[in-house]
Amino acid sequence: MGRPTGPGKIESLASNAAPVPRPGARADLAARLFNFDIDDAGVKPEHQDWLRSNVVAAFRRFPGSGLFLQGSASRSGANAHNLDLSRRRVEAVSRFLTGQGVPAGQILTSFTGEELSSSRSGEDERDRAVTAVLLSAPATPVRFRAHAPLDGFEESPDRARQLDRLTIGVGETKEVDLDNGGLVGVLTTGNPAIASVRPSSFPIQRSVTILGTGGGSTLIEARDPSGVVLLARLLVVVKNVVRHSIAIHVVRDNAGHSSQRGTSSIQQIATGMNDLYRRQANVSLVWDGSVNLVTVARDLGDKIESAEGNPSDEWLAVTSLGAPGVRCRVFFVHDFDFTNTAKEELGGVDAIPGRDAMIGDDTPQRLETKATAHEVGHLLGLRHAAPDQLMGTDRVNAGLRISASEADLLNPTPGPPLVIPQIRI
Ligand SMILES: [Zn+2]
Repeated sequence: MGRPTGPGKIESLASNAAPVPRPGARADLAARLFNFDIDDAGVKPEHQDWLRSNVVAAFRRFPGSGLFLQGSASRSGANAHNLDLSRRRVEAVSRFLTGQGVPAGQILTSFTGEELSSSRSGEDERDRAVTAVLLSAPATPVRFRAHAPLDGFEESPDRARQLDRLTIGVGETKEVDLDNGGLVGVLTTGNPAIASVRPSSFPIQRSVTILGTGGGSTLIEARDPSGVVLLARLLVVVKNVVRHSIAIHVVRDNAGHSSQRGTSSIQQIATGMNDLYRRQANVSLVWDGSVNLVTVARDLGDKIESAEGNPSDEWLAVTSLGAPGVRCRVFFVHDFDFTNTAKEELGGVDAIPGRDAMIGDDTPQRLETKATAHEVGHLLGLRHAAPDQLMGTDRVNAGLRISASEADLLNPTPGPPLVIPQIRI
């Protein structure tokens, strides 16, 4: 039988001091309901008032909210007894709330007995407590986010529909962040033979790991702890690796015109470009690491003539010296003459798709990787598309990015396209 200790007491906790169920979660409300009677689990009227006006009210307003309750006990008495007492306290609070209409599936409970007691004395009213942390439905919704830039993640242009997309290779794992993941109780995979996600149940970390198990498309859905409310969706597209061989050349002529491009610049371009294609489209550009020095037995002049669509003699003189049997060949040259001066700094190709691209030394350093990746994109069949993509028409200012549609052109996803229900979240 318990020993009465007077009215129930409540203190607000700073959210960072509260036992938030996962690191990084933002608690909207955190409080300690304490001074339970000694050796008793009864929820006192003062606690009930607070729970009604705070927690019950929040769940009425935001049905997708989540609540974390942790029971504790003071140090006096046996350890096992205190553990059981803390369990009964947290269950009593949980029962009170479900009696008020809070969905049981959205309450997560734990109990610590005397383990987390901060007091030195055997009996402290603050230890006879249940701590409540409320994660109310946020103003900004739960949403998948890129964990790292250029990692195959593409945000949905339709923010309301939230069908963000991740491109990933078979057998590959990638991390994806989750905004407001504290509200997520469960992550489900439409087809585990295509992709799986870890962790898949509460508590969800700030980022989750997605494994591409087999080629195809599937949806990962984030739902609230009740499993009823759909909070966010992620389209996962799992691709087999596509490999293309690539050779790199540095060109000079017999009149002293020569590309001054150094090995470190070439290494940087090749690494950046390959990284981009691999992460965004699971396309691997296989380069043996060698740079072929090509000497043309004629004077190429200040600029190599291109004559777009109709390769010039100079262009053919250069490309005839390229490495044989390679899918893509890049020639670094001293300068390259485009008939269209707007394209001047970005090299060029003689056909789409083709095999050969030239990049002039006059390409600004900040654009080197993008320019080379852009031209190689042409070789692999990509054409100019919307701005801000790799093949964007605003090529100088557009970002270094391969869009989802470009990735699908470069490396089609196995299996039938996924029929995605038109659900608005
Ligand atoms: Zn182009």
